[in-house]
Amino acid sequence: MHTHILPKTMPNWTEKFGYGKFIHLIQNEDRTADMMQGGKFFRRIEENCWDENLRIKDYEKFDTQVQVVCTIPVMFSYWAKPADCLQLSEFLNDHIADLVHRYPKNYIGLGTVPMQDADAAIKELERIKKIGLVGIQIGSNINDLNLSEEQFFPIFEACERLDLAVMIHPWNMMGFNSMEKYWLPWLVGMPAETSRAACSMIFSGLFDKLPNLRVCFSHAGGSFMATIGRIEHGFNCRPDLVAIDNPNNPRNYIGKFWVDSITHDIKALEYILDLQGSKKVCLGSDYPFPLGDLEVGKFIEDSTLSASIKEDIFCNSTLEWLKLEKSTFL
Ligand SMILES: [Zn+2]
Repeated sequence: MHTHILPKTMPNWTEKFGYGKFIHLIQNEDRTADMMQGGKFFRRIEENCWDENLRIKDYEKFDTQVQVVCTIPVMFSYWAKPADCLQLSEFLNDHIADLVHRYPKNYIGLGTVPMQDADAAIKELERIKKIGLVGIQIGSNINDLNLSEEQFFPIFEACERLDLAVMIHPWNMMGFNSMEKYWLPWLVGMPAETSRAACSMIFSGLFDKLPNLRVCFSHAGGSFMATIGRIEHGFNCRPDLVAIDNPNNPRNYIGKFWVDSITHDIKALEYILDLQGSKKVCLGSDYPFPLGDLEVGKFIEDSTLSASIKEDIFCNSTLEWLKLEKSTFL
């Protein structure tokens, strides 16, 4: 967990809906495609974003058989009218469900839902469950609102009820416009976004209200793990600001959720393993994007971590997070 995927073709949503800056693709002759945001060039992607067999072969190079796939966060479109976002979500979810059905031993699917409208989101969660996806990927904020906001609670509640896992992915990075230079939104903003999501969920008491909700934070929890001492100290020294909705120490929640292994640094991973325990750290890649661990798990394989810890990271943790059986993939 996790990798990103898109359908090779999709409608021009901006034309179809008549407003907004939805993403669509223009295929180029050199097997790349341009992601267009509204009418404007957004990013060039390669065929490993949509070619399912190429992706399997790329993974085989690193002895990895199964990929958890989800869309690219810029597709979330939480800013759109709920009915339109629902239609877009259905399209993306159907694509992933079809992939999972055709390659049950290679792909596991996470869906996307219109988080800006709880009723529409829950409707799609129920459909997601039926079409064979095992969870959803959501953004670290929803149109700048934190995940602690009451309007999102029914969606998390439905995930728990439907037994769907939740993966939190940073996006719509805070401070984006004031730090575009040096790729800072990705290097500084993304880790902060993930910590923002973890802190918001913890401080709102979400994990106590929904004890069976299975949440995984991408990119090893962002800056949350590295700053847990500061977060705990803040909780202790200014409970009037921090402990207003939840009286429990934030450190108590470590090990109650999952994180992935994308640290690019074995020392950082060892620290996270010390905190979380190996059963709560999943092999992450973020394939096929350059900031990901594109030599999938090689730094872990090459490390002196024990065989059982490696096995937890490489498969057991993800299987437990997604409530899946290893035998399904053998
Ligand atoms: Zn990612």
